[in-house]
Amino acid sequence: MISTGGGVVTDPVNMELLRRDSVMVLLHADIDTIEARLTKKPRPPLTGLPLREEIAEMMDRRRQLYHAAADLCIDTSGTTPDAAAAMVMHLLRQGTILAKNRAPCISFFRTGRIPPKCMERLLKVLDETPPDPLTRLMGVAGYPCAHSKGPFLFNALFAAYGLDYHYTWFEDPELNEILSVARHLDVKGLSVTIPFKQEVIPLIDEVEEHAAQQIGAVNTVVFACGTATGYNTDWIGVRKPLVDLKGAKAVLLGAGGAAAGAAFALTDLDMETTILNRTPAKAQVLAERFGCTWGALSDFDSIHPDLVVNATPLGMNPGDLSPLRDDQLRPGMTVFDLVYTPPVTPLIEAARRVGCRTITGTEMFIGQAREQFYLFFGIDVPHEKIRELLP
Ligand code: NAP
Repeated sequence: MISTGGGVVTDPVNMELLRRDSVMVLLHADIDTIEARLTKKPRPPLTGLPLREEIAEMMDRRRQLYHAAADLCIDTSGTTPDAAAAMVMHLLRQGTILAKNRAPCISFFRTGRIPPKCMERLLKVLDETPPDPLTRLMGVAGYPCAHSKGPFLFNALFAAYGLDYHYTWFEDPELNEILSVARHLDVKGLSVTIPFKQEVIPLIDEVEEHAAQQIGAVNTVVFACGTATGYNTDWIGVRKPLVDLKGAKAVLLGAGGAAAGAAFALTDLDMETTILNRTPAKAQVLAERFGCTWGALSDFDSIHPDLVVNATPLGMNPGDLSPLRDDQLRPGMTVFDLVYTPPVTPLIEAARRVGCRTITGTEMFIGQAREQFYLFFGIDVPHEKIRELLP
């Protein structure tokens, strides 16, 4: 058993080392309890603030990291060390999934389209006698989401980092049903995809302010200490490959969920952005939220951008044409297609023919998954390692 100080969570390398083949228990407490304990047993201050304000500040600053670090959470407010130790032992023996919740949840998963081999592994987690109390579940929530490659990537990451977790598909038309199963199974986290990224917001406890609230969409929910917190990592997946284009002139094609994250990323990089959409009124609504200009797809020729970001699904389906003609592209332009299946879309093919710099949707997928993994576990996986593990 290793008892750490509270600051251990701030370094992702600590998390990577401590988390391997172990169980991390978060002993948390309310602010009154922490204040009373620190008054009795003072320690050097971390800020210049009065004690209570310092505690509130540190709790606020580190909340996301503590939640990421926790496999099990124990509220120690008003408990003795012995009682807390007894709770740790109880959870290590029993886990956090009540036996009576297992069977109904298995029925839920049988209605989704989980591939047979993956279903076998899921049943091993849920239905083995006796089940391993420490194996935790996570998954992708969407409808449909059976096409998602997320489970293959996350399960490969769990194996690589020695984490006792299993990631599966939570496919159901009712988001409430998905969240109910997730809570009954005490999942650690969910990746949220079409069509639930907006719908999930009123159903969780907290939404991260800086990006997720501004974008109005959540693609990551972390469950810890009885709280479900929503984040958006899509925008980070768009921003990262474009940092060298700060201040560029950009055209964003599309005005749906992915476009909202992209608009936030482009604005964050001080780009002069025009949003063009099949339904111009939707482009207008999004543009007004982020201080961009807007128009119809046919307005493209008057703009001459340095960067084009495609946030429409054009290119996903066999037979789809590129959203832009070859003569609308020019060498030196950067073309970022958010579509990632197939990895090379007709737009990327056209852009390569013309001599543009191209960025595929795989880069966004890797970037958003990397940030999700960090939010779930506090571990910062190198970009290239995720690329290696992609299915
Ligand atoms: P969405 O909310 O349904 O929005 C789709 C947008 O595309 C809307 O603006 C829609 O225009 C436009 N559109 C749809 N069909 C079109 C067509 N045939 N011609 C022209 N415009 C069309 O979808 P989303 O969630 O934003 O996803 C968009 C794409 O981003 C998907 O292909 C998805 O795979 C990709 N994506 C990639 C990642 C990644 O990690 N790489 C992550 C998230 C999303 P209207 O307003 O006129 O309907």
